[in-house]
Amino acid sequence: MESTAYCDATLDLYRVLRAEHTNVGICLQSYLYRTDADLEQVLALSPMVRLVKGAYKEPAELAYPKKSDVDESFLRLAGELLAAAREGTARIAFGTHDADMILEINRRAADMGCPRESYEIQMLYGIQRDLQARLADSGYRMRVLISYGAYWFPWYMRRLAERPANVGFVLRSMLTG
Ligand SMILES: Cc1cc2nc3c(=O)[nH]c(=O)nc-3n(C[C@H](O)[C@H](O)[C@H](O)COP(=O)(O)OP(=O)(O)OC[C@H]3O[C@@H](n4cnc5c(N)ncnc54)[C@H](O)[C@@H]3O)c2cc1C
Repeated sequence: MESTAYCDATLDLYRVLRAEHTNVGICLQSYLYRTDADLEQVLALSPMVRLVKGAYKEPAELAYPKKSDVDESFLRLAGELLAAAREGTARIAFGTHDADMILEINRRAADMGCPRESYEIQMLYGIQRDLQARLADSGYRMRVLISYGAYWFPWYMRRLAERPANVGFVLRSMLTG
């Protein structure tokens, strides 16, 4: 999912594709006020959903400006997704590198009776590798997103620009292998 200018078109496209294909998913962003309503509609489609916090600069009329509100929204939406996964009506994933968030989701999932294999944690290639390995070793489903194709470089640069601390992280990874 890109910036809010593309939300409606992306959701419309998803509805069309989902009517014909099972192996197609959509990403929803917890920083947008609209996502509670979008999720309600999407859940009616027996969807595959990746929940993320959201990466684009959005105005306060459309998105929570405070990180604590974005996190709270993430957990609320995650609860709805876990409930749907438990019912077998959605395939779900949480795209985040936030270790505390993942811990809390795992705790809530266990409380709700959702088995570890009923959801995925997804991260970008090369980020939080130790955490990725620990989650996989503990029986969680861990998927790593890799950029590829003609536009991998601009995509990767955008991800670095979102979080300048990643530049140092990538350089350190290159030097230490
Ligand atoms: C698989 C995947 C797919 C995505 N797809 C989309 C998409 O389609 N649309 C979209 O808008 N956004 C997408 N994103 C980006 C997402 O919206 C966030 O901008 C991005 O993941 C940063 O938020 P966070 O939840 O990882 O952690 P943040 O809220 O940024 O950080 C919380 C804590 O997590 C840890 N952390 C976060 N990032 C790092 C890091 N790079 N290295 C080390 N520690 C870190 C730190 O402890 C940090 O304090 C995607 C992210 C992932 C992982």
